[in-house]
Amino acid sequence: MDVREQLLIGERWVPAASGAEFTTYNPATGEPLGVVADAGAEDVDDAVAAARQGLIDPAWAQLPPAARARSLWGVADLIEGNADELARLETLDQGQPLGVAKTVSLAMAADVFRYYAGWCTKIEGTTSAVSVPGTMHYTRREPIGVCALITPWNFPLMIAAWKLAPALACGNTVVLKPAEQTPLTTVALARLCREAGVPAGVVNCVTGGPVAGRALTEHPDVDKVSFTGSTEVGKRIVVAAAGNLKRVTLELGGKAPSIIARDADIDAAVTGNLQGALLNSGQVCAAYTRFYVDSRRVEEFTEKIATAASELPVGPGLGPNTAVGPLVSQEQVDRVSRYVDLGVEQGAHLVSGGGRPGGDLADGYFFQPTVFSGVTDDMAIAREEIFGPVLSILSYDDADELAARANDTEYGLAACVWTKDLTTAHNLAASIRAGSVFVNMLPFLDPAAPWGGFGSSGWGREMGEHAIDEFTETKGVWINLA
Ligand code: NAD
Repeated sequence: MDVREQLLIGERWVPAASGAEFTTYNPATGEPLGVVADAGAEDVDDAVAAARQGLIDPAWAQLPPAARARSLWGVADLIEGNADELARLETLDQGQPLGVAKTVSLAMAADVFRYYAGWCTKIEGTTSAVSVPGTMHYTRREPIGVCALITPWNFPLMIAAWKLAPALACGNTVVLKPAEQTPLTTVALARLCREAGVPAGVVNCVTGGPVAGRALTEHPDVDKVSFTGSTEVGKRIVVAAAGNLKRVTLELGGKAPSIIARDADIDAAVTGNLQGALLNSGQVCAAYTRFYVDSRRVEEFTEKIATAASELPVGPGLGPNTAVGPLVSQEQVDRVSRYVDLGVEQGAHLVSGGGRPGGDLADGYFFQPTVFSGVTDDMAIAREEIFGPVLSILSYDDADELAARANDTEYGLAACVWTKDLTTAHNLAASIRAGSVFVNMLPFLDPAAPWGGFGSSGWGREMGEHAIDEFTETKGVWINLA
């Protein structure tokens, strides 16, 4: 593959002003996949200026909502029309199994554009019941302005779509910045937006790393940052955004608990938790990672899930039978290995996996699905986000302590409960501090369901009407009728 990509600034595809480029790699082989422009502060200035211009361009600012809806619908059609090629590109650049790229990444990206196409004609103000005599008051929902959309490497196309579709539905203009590990499908998405007739300057795309990200978050002409990534970078963004008090939405890390109650259907829990833990090799912010299992069922659960995990085919994402693809980079392999070593050092019992597979897979960034039992609440593998295929099994005797143990974390993105008892399900759903609680199921996402976290998992919510709130300002208009 010989890919060479540039920056989209206004209507032009251009190299970085400095001429700098970086290489993106295929994580299944460690080989270069393509070369991409490496944006610096000067390019970010240009992209923000183009987005500022796009905001007042009548072709966008005066586009009727119904026409904006047609553009978004057109992007969804193009995503679907190019699904095979885009899915292949996502798998090559990110590593996820092709089936996941097709049924999760591509499907959700198209769905989210369709969903927000519908919203374009439904973003309404209200009349307010004010008590000042001889006046009336109404509200307008207006675009925030220039939005920087900064995304991580685990689901590049899908997460870019989560942000881009509602930002456009609300009439904003954007500068997209994908993660440096996985830029290719986001560049493709920007190209499809132009093809769908989104006017020049409305969608700009700068590829690059933290330098470009920082330049965007510090930029005085950027009005909003929508960020998905690590909690550590999220905190830096809050500081950088203070300069002009940018609006900030943050979707950050997680350490989701999964509770397996005494009455749970263990076989269903094994299947569901395995998928919930190992989708995209565990590189999922909502991945189930700490399993609190009733002590009377813990042996059975551990044995079954460890056996199932060790039987999953590990291989390149393009392999026809692959269930677990590579991690995204060598850095991520090192991170996961460090946590596995820490688990052993701190006294957890390594039941299965724990290392890199050899043979044909030795050159790629693969890691075996790994199951630990006998984990205690204080261990690093129970507390810190690993973002890899590592399952930590803890046991409990006292169900009354469950919520407190599940909540003993700085994160609060997702949680899961496996039980047949409605009272247990509803009581735990109410008492666990997490943005989404899943009962007897995988961590699903849907454009209509709010997504986001408590605590260090972030600020604000994506999806549904929440994203419309996050991408609009409310203006009040007073009229003197006297
Ligand atoms: P990261 O924070 O390292 O990078 C994310 C993005 O931020 C990249 O585009 C990167 O170039 C950019 N960036 C880096 N430094 C920056 C800075 N100082 N200013 C501005 N931008 C900067 O995250 P990652 O390693 O790509 O992704 C993994 C993390 O993302 C995990 O913590 C995971 O939980 C989180 N995540 C959260 C969600 C969610 O919905 N809550 C979804 C996916 C991933």
